[in-house]
Amino acid sequence: MLILKTMIKNKIIPMKYLLTLCLLSSFYINAQVSLDYYLDDATEYNANIPTPKSIIGHEVGEWHVSHDKLSQYVIKLSEVSSRIKLINRGKTYEDRPSWLLIYTSEENHSRLDEIQKKHIELSNSPGRKVDLSEMPIVVYQGFSVHGDEPSGSNASLLLMYHLAASEDPRTKEVLQNTVILLDPSFNPDGLQRFSQWANSNRSMNLNPDSNDREYNQIFPRGRTNHYWFDLNRDWLPNQLPETKAKVETFTDWLPNILTDHHEMGTNATFFFQPGVPERKNPLISDKNQKLTKKIATFHEEAFNRIGSLYYSEESFDDFFFGKASTYPDANGSIGILFEQASSRGHIQNSDNGILTFPFTIKNQLTAAFSTLKAANEMRVELLTYMKDFYDNEFSKLTKDNSYIVFGKNKDESTVFHLAEILKSHKIKFNKLNDDVIINKVRFDKENSYVVPLNQNKSTLIKAMFNTQVKFTDSLFYDVSAWTFPLAFNVNYSKTNSSKLLGDEVTILSNKPGSVENKSDYAYVFEAHEYYAPSAVYELLKKDIRVKVATKTFSVDGKKYDYGTYLIPVQNQVLTSDEIYNLLMKVSKENYIDVKAPSTGLTLGIDLGSNYFRKIEKPKVGMLVGEGVRSYDAGEIWHLLDTRYKMPLTKIDIKDLRSIDLSDYTHFIMPDYTGSNLKSFKGKIESFISNGGTLIGYRNSINWISENISEVELKSNDLIAKDVTYVDREKFYGAQQTGGAIFNSIIDNSHPVSYGIETSTLPLFRNSNIYMDKDKNSFGNPIAYSSNPLLSGYISEENLSLLKGSVPFKVVRKGKGKIILITDNTNFRAFWYGTNRILMNSIFHSNIM
Ligand SMILES: [Zn+2]
Repeated sequence: MLILKTMIKNKIIPMKYLLTLCLLSSFYINAQVSLDYYLDDATEYNANIPTPKSIIGHEVGEWHVSHDKLSQYVIKLSEVSSRIKLINRGKTYEDRPSWLLIYTSEENHSRLDEIQKKHIELSNSPGRKVDLSEMPIVVYQGFSVHGDEPSGSNASLLLMYHLAASEDPRTKEVLQNTVILLDPSFNPDGLQRFSQWANSNRSMNLNPDSNDREYNQIFPRGRTNHYWFDLNRDWLPNQLPETKAKVETFTDWLPNILTDHHEMGTNATFFFQPGVPERKNPLISDKNQKLTKKIATFHEEAFNRIGSLYYSEESFDDFFFGKASTYPDANGSIGILFEQASSRGHIQNSDNGILTFPFTIKNQLTAAFSTLKAANEMRVELLTYMKDFYDNEFSKLTKDNSYIVFGKNKDESTVFHLAEILKSHKIKFNKLNDDVIINKVRFDKENSYVVPLNQNKSTLIKAMFNTQVKFTDSLFYDVSAWTFPLAFNVNYSKTNSSKLLGDEVTILSNKPGSVENKSDYAYVFEAHEYYAPSAVYELLKKDIRVKVATKTFSVDGKKYDYGTYLIPVQNQVLTSDEIYNLLMKVSKENYIDVKAPSTGLTLGIDLGSNYFRKIEKPKVGMLVGEGVRSYDAGEIWHLLDTRYKMPLTKIDIKDLRSIDLSDYTHFIMPDYTGSNLKSFKGKIESFISNGGTLIGYRNSINWISENISEVELKSNDLIAKDVTYVDREKFYGAQQTGGAIFNSIIDNSHPVSYGIETSTLPLFRNSNIYMDKDKNSFGNPIAYSSNPLLSGYISEENLSLLKGSVPFKVVRKGKGKIILITDNTNFRAFWYGTNRILMNSIFHSNIM
């Protein structure tokens, strides 16, 4: 931009260039950074606009900005600048505001609604010619979704200041031609957590030694949000409050460019997209990648000028639409990933010399400016691209006028939550106007929806519903499959019949449950509703006796499945009236329909039968700390805390010595690969032999097998043949199962399957652990089907191991049990379809 040009003109660049490259340690360790290190001191700045330092108390880059201080600046700035409209889009889990600053010229602000309306019309006016010559372009700039990649959010302070204060005509031109959606912190809770770490470990004389505590965070680190989720995987699933705010901004505005500012390893340089060309999702057009490449030339120019090293096309990809830089590509927009080498703390030795925090901030700011320059110069081209993209969405479909129908027979909450995702992406869908059977699958009009592909979000619908099992490349930056109806385990079919189309769904709600009538004898409810475990726990918490049916039965002409819950009215701690009132509340809040049978004598097991087994109130502990994969632990914490309202005690390995595990009925080991648990082997062993249940996920199975109870495992011992040294990465990469979906056959009579309506169950697997099948068929209640790959990539070698293995196993030991699960049943909060496996392992381990 202008700043840089002036710098060259004034011959400021050579000196700064030199400093940047040499990064003289004595200078940087002791000297304070000033505003003109980042911004052109020749530019005129409006003195009424506060600088970041005047509000946060230090120059940008001297300390790591906390989200609290960033908020102070955001509020102050928006109070004084007429170029900003500030929106608080709601709260994070830790009650921090999710800010959005809309920057544009004063004149544009006065007709912002009209600009927005006209812009959105690009996506829904097929065939109509629109004059784009005067239309502003929309750019969404987001920073530091990973909290411990802080240069982005720290750079946003400077960007916010510059865009509010600069009197430079070129800045004014950019503001006149652009609506900038500036999102200074994509992850407020993570930024806060990490800033606390970096600042509290900073020495007054900055110390670049990588061994310092400043550069080595402890579990769970600052990358993730409150529940330890990677927010940059949630754009498509949209399950977390931080993402919901972003997706709403995105769908409300349909930006032409979205930028996502990250950090990578300390020894790297700077990366901008395009990523690896062969790893592009097939739904993304070549035109999209061409435009990404053209935008990259603006970054190229800017980085050449400040003398920063960079690269492109060698790593990262555009495959999974859960990422901020890929989601836009399914929406007629261009998503761009930036990755800056991380100083992690304030200054760190690296292969490229001493890397200072201010230098990383300056690079992010440079990329933010070059993005705005590209947007300004490519404005009409990018607006045209968006218009063409959406026109094409419609015209493609006059040839393929199909509909996707999805639903379930009994569980309404799961169907509701999938529909909720469609709604959040502004995908249109309708009610099903009649019960119907499509491709042998029955759809009930009360609990199914129809999604017409003939709409502007057609590519996005495909991104959610498609499966893929053939790939041109075997390396993936993240998962290779995420097909939503499989993750939710809902039935779905494609049809060409428009006759099924009921009214469009404009208001979506989940129907509260109820109690049929008051009883002095007994109440029952089936286990299929997603929130049934939450209802059961609510009752157990009140010391109500709840039993579970281990066989099916019929009463009053209604069939009840395995796992139906029974609440006898007699001999409880509450009176008959109190139980009725409690059940009314619990059924309503958990969407459960409670029935009151007229008699205890049924077809099948009677209500007084021994086949109804008492459920014990669980008290669950979970291993956390170094060696535990925080994502997996966080998913379990989030599931129990936010969905099922159950307490979960997070037990850190470092505290295990002084904790009595016999206080707990269940102890969960999420994915664990550490070496710090050996000395607690005896403690865990006696927990199990005294009657506790250990639930081990994924790699924990290796530890359990080596230390607690041997498990028969198969392994992939593939040896490289004719693979050259340079291709070894590819060779190993191809054997990784980054995340794919496999079908299983389930035994509905086994307690682990209670509540699952279907006889098959799609599972998400991202590990290479293969457990041998049990010799007895009833010991394999979940078994992979004969042709299990539903979607995603797995190597031939791993697929053949998988076919001979089982994902679930119960091992008895002393008075207790070990439950082993190789697959991730709680993945990223959107795998609703398999959440029941963990809940059944908690509530029903005593009858497994
Ligand atoms: Zn990142």
